[in-house]
Amino acid sequence: MTFSIQGLAVARGIAIGRAVLVASSSVNVAHYFIEAGQIDAEIDRLRLGRNAVVDEIHRLQASIAHMSPKDTPHELAALLDVHLMLLQDEELISGVKHWITNRLYNAEWALTTQLEIIARQFDEMEDEYLRERKADMEQITDRILRAMQGQPSPVIPPVLARSARKAQQQDRLQGDMQDVPLVLVAHDLSPSDMLQFKQSLFAGFVTDVGGKTSHTAIVARSMDIPAVVGARLSSHLVRQDDWVIIDGDAGVVIVDPSPIILDEYGFKQRQGELERSRLSRIRNTPAISMDAQKVELLANIEMPEDTAAALAVGAVGVGLFRSEFLFMGRQGKLPDEEEQFQAYKRAVEGMKGLPVTIRTVDIGADKPLGDGREDAAHLNPALGLRAIRWSLADPSMFLTQLRAILRASAYGKVKLLIPMLAHAHEIRQTVALLAQARAELDAKGIHYGPLQLGAMIEIPAAALMLKVFLKYFDFLSIGTNDLIQYTLAIDRADESVAHLYDPLHPAVLRLVADTIAECNAQGKGVSVCGEMAGDISLTRLLLGLGLRSFSMHPAQILAVKQEILLANTRELQAWAQTVLAHDEPALLLNAA
Ligand code: PEP
Ligand code: MG
Repeated sequence: MTFSIQGLAVARGIAIGRAVLVASSSVNVAHYFIEAGQIDAEIDRLRLGRNAVVDEIHRLQASIAHMSPKDTPHELAALLDVHLMLLQDEELISGVKHWITNRLYNAEWALTTQLEIIARQFDEMEDEYLRERKADMEQITDRILRAMQGQPSPVIPPVLARSARKAQQQDRLQGDMQDVPLVLVAHDLSPSDMLQFKQSLFAGFVTDVGGKTSHTAIVARSMDIPAVVGARLSSHLVRQDDWVIIDGDAGVVIVDPSPIILDEYGFKQRQGELERSRLSRIRNTPAISMDAQKVELLANIEMPEDTAAALAVGAVGVGLFRSEFLFMGRQGKLPDEEEQFQAYKRAVEGMKGLPVTIRTVDIGADKPLGDGREDAAHLNPALGLRAIRWSLADPSMFLTQLRAILRASAYGKVKLLIPMLAHAHEIRQTVALLAQARAELDAKGIHYGPLQLGAMIEIPAAALMLKVFLKYFDFLSIGTNDLIQYTLAIDRADESVAHLYDPLHPAVLRLVADTIAECNAQGKGVSVCGEMAGDISLTRLLLGLGLRSFSMHPAQILAVKQEILLANTRELQAWAQTVLAHDEPALLLNAA
């Protein structure tokens, strides 16, 4: 039966494919593809995990055998028997092997996927006793997952992931899903999960939770595949292998579509492809408005390898390299100076002489390190130890990153960008640590290049003390994602308040406008690198406010360029002032 689920549109386009469910578990589970050659080893890992749990239960049984009956509820012995029986369950074991062998899921992912399927069967059972066995199944799955956690890190570095992808492409042909596009359906995905999936073959994705500018949505956008977030309950309503349409323009997910609906969306999909190929014709056209204003279109990237996508759409530099993605999902083992240096150098060389703006780590809030330690103790992680606060709290880690970036600056034009500054003393500390990093390299005779220093304006306090910022910094970059979050007190990752997350709120526009105007007046560089920069419905307004540098995901660059080519900034200037003065700017913008 066809039904649809409404969510938030985060990445444009239509995807049609079979659902791959990423089940949630109380244990933190990594999701990644293995290579075909790893199937046996992966099944072995699972077997070892299961055996460890069997041993654990046997030990428990032995210990309660020596206890007096009053100390041991008789249900406990019975429960352990049930758990032992479930551990031998053929459906669980053969199902997990199926997902590992035919889909190349890592063992943890395979296990949680199969659990989800079995849990649904339990839910449908009439017999209450049997229905309650679902909880037991969940418990033993969690036990196995925990037993497996002592295994080596599941993170696959991007290079390995690429070869895994090739292997996948070949091996999938032998699997059960030949040539069928796959779409990912999950309750939630961490940004580092998304990064793993970035290397894979998914045609689209849907999550139950998340806001339009959550970092998961941002990575999805960079993958340039249709995506919908905040589609509540989708991971419960959609079943493994269901046919699903993801309409990333309307923010709708259609499950089990009828042939007529499939035809209609197939048509829309082809139209979208045509539009893309039309846009690709302006790839090499300079971004100059009708009244001859030159505009700089830069790319936001997460990994050095993303520079290829930036160049492919004619970006004239990288305006934001979110370096924290190098630090995430590594079970707390941070990249050392050499590893970071190599990554930054790859990005710099990848841009072939064009400037690369590297932002120091912005770990925290919805970008946890993935070492299982963070946030549990903090009620408001977005207001906590995040970004520059995290870096200043660990100067040795920060100095390591600064040295690595300085060293990379010997290989091309590098700009250094600092996130989340709000206090003058944070600025002074940062500047001092940068001087120290230079001195440390000097002492070792290590070469580095010149570096422009910039700050993100993403906390209202920063936007309200621009003069202080401009004393220290060569350029500013407006992080509208956080600026909106902190100005309006709206969690950017929370879909339940997504309707209040408003880039056009007069207070937000005032802070953006003032920052642009002050930088322009002082002859300092200013760009917007939040999601507003890539939203074509806002291009004309930002041009009218005087913005001439936009940084966004490569996938959005050509559409924004088209807007610029058709714009007359002189006319837009007066109109933008009217929008700024309006109580509800959205009304004016929608009318334009
Ligand atoms: C922003 O806040 O707008 C920004 C670009 O940084 P991030 O999205 O990584 O927080
Ligand atoms: Mg930010």
